[in-house]
Amino acid sequence: MNLLKDKIWVKLGSTNVGVVKIEEITYVIDTGSSTKFAKELLSEMDNGKKVVLNTHSHADHIQGNYLFEKNGAKIYANELEITLIRNPSFETLYLYGASPPKALRSSFYKAKPSHAVSFDKLNLIPKIDLISLPGHSPGMTAVKIDGVIFCGDAYFGANVLEKYSYPYLVDVKKFLNSLDTLEKLNADLYVPSHGVITSDPHSDIERTRAAVHNFVNAALESLKGPEYVETLCAKVSKKMSISLNAGTFYLFRSFMSSILEFLEKMGKVKNSEVAGMWEKI
Ligand SMILES: [Zn+2]
Repeated sequence: MNLLKDKIWVKLGSTNVGVVKIEEITYVIDTGSSTKFAKELLSEMDNGKKVVLNTHSHADHIQGNYLFEKNGAKIYANELEITLIRNPSFETLYLYGASPPKALRSSFYKAKPSHAVSFDKLNLIPKIDLISLPGHSPGMTAVKIDGVIFCGDAYFGANVLEKYSYPYLVDVKKFLNSLDTLEKLNADLYVPSHGVITSDPHSDIERTRAAVHNFVNAALESLKGPEYVETLCAKVSKKMSISLNAGTFYLFRSFMSSILEFLEKMGKVKNSEVAGMWEKI
């Protein structure tokens, strides 16, 4: 673990995880993207009481929950994320829209279940601030402790945007509003789950915002006649040079569906007369 500030650490990984000791309790912000990572993390911690605060329910943030739970830790998350943490198979159920096919059954999409309870039940001490930043997922929550914000997936680092090309989200409007909120927060250090720790996240936040707008514009430009979201996915992924496999296609479809909903709210597209198709207004 790397020390960030007095009694605040980060364990860097494909998902960065925060560790904060306040009096006798160690708070762990997310539990990492693999069992191996979580085991290492546990071995670097003392045997005292632990509390897990999940930023959201995505598999790469909760893979170690079950190990921490076995270790006696209580798991907390936003009310909207709890159902998915308790039943990780719902994650792929909503991505696919039905029982998921083989391509969505790998651990990349699904963690082991753990019994998370609502943040409301947490005996929160004044030092910890839970900041609602929805959009990437319905109940995405950042955790601010002593000037350090563990941002979860509220924004992404430049290297991550370069690698994955698009910032996954389920609600464009809320995601953009959360970026605005994040920029107004006053913190000494910002720790994105995927990106570089910084005292000034402005350029990364700006890049994340620009990436969203690029895809909104690409979707609008690509939508010619009435067409299905899947057709639009094929066009936009080609236009933006995104390679999709059988599984990541469904993540991209979810992202594009959110963009269509956003454009509908803006009065730029609507469902066409042919059920399931979209067209420009
Ligand atoms: Zn996520």
